Amino acid sequence: MSTVKGEGSVITNGKSNGISCEKLCFPKETESSGSSTDLPTDITENGTRKDDNLFADQPEATSGPAKSTVKPSSVSPAVSSIATPSLKMSPRQYNRLLLTQTYGSSYEVDEDYEKGSEEGLERVKELTVFYKNLLSSVGEDINRQGLLKTPERAAKAMWYFTKGYRQTIKDVVHNAIFEEDHDEMVIVRDIEMFSLCEHHLIPFIGKVSIGYLPRNKILGLSKVARIVEMFARRLQVQERLTKQIAKAITDAINPAGVGVVVEATHMCMVMRGVQKLNSKTMTSAMLGEFRDDPKTREEFLTLIGTN
Ligand SMILES: [Zn+2]
Repeated sequence: MSTVKGEGSVITNGKSNGISCEKLCFPKETESSGSSTDLPTDITENGTRKDDNLFADQPEATSGPAKSTVKPSSVSPAVSSIATPSLKMSPRQYNRLLLTQTYGSSYEVDEDYEKGSEEGLERVKELTVFYKNLLSSVGEDINRQGLLKTPERAAKAMWYFTKGYRQTIKDVVHNAIFEEDHDEMVIVRDIEMFSLCEHHLIPFIGKVSIGYLPRNKILGLSKVARIVEMFARRLQVQERLTKQIAKAITDAINPAGVGVVVEATHMCMVMRGVQKLNSKTMTSAMLGEFRDDPKTREEFLTLIGTN
């Protein structure tokens, strides 16, 4: 495998020529047209959170009781004209009032939905409006019985699919780094992964296998899967996802080496474009001894079943 310097390499079986979706229908020359000023402040241009470089002291931005992010002044004029917040209302109550007035009393506020975070409710509300427009744009009747709650459902689903933006590695590996005098390879194989391709917002689905050589520190096994989940629940390209996982494990426990192999089917290739039903894209990232020592790499690839 010609993996160098921790760059993900791409191997594809099937006849699809080793191209991942974004290269198929997103030619390079148009790729850099986006402006970084459009990005939320805590997400960098390549879709990484600034605090993915963890363990630096940082405020608990995404966990704990939600701070109020909804102020009456941030609400669009059309909406604020119908809501009449009382001074005693908490931002959350105010938000519910808005939701009820905008969508009627049938709007269900799911208590467990991101722990009822104000930001979550506000964003889901925005997304609901977008999805309504989307339905109209494709020629649907948004008042058709079967579609009445679709915008809201789709909004909640999209909010869930992108929940990784609201997590940090620090939250995820919290209290699960253990001192252990163990220096044999640790492998977690076939972790299921569901992500969205950032070029089409269409799923890519697959599995991730991770190995590392501990240097007196090991990571709780379930946390390995949660690291995968955190990065997968963002808009991604498979190559970056692979590297981010490898780097996060390196940063967390400073192992002698890390290997990550991701094998995925991209629905944007399957359902559109070249329509290659059985093509799989494989990416790998090898760091430390996994990169420098062919025997370590071989052992890893054999144990995860790709050799
Ligand atoms: Zn795609």
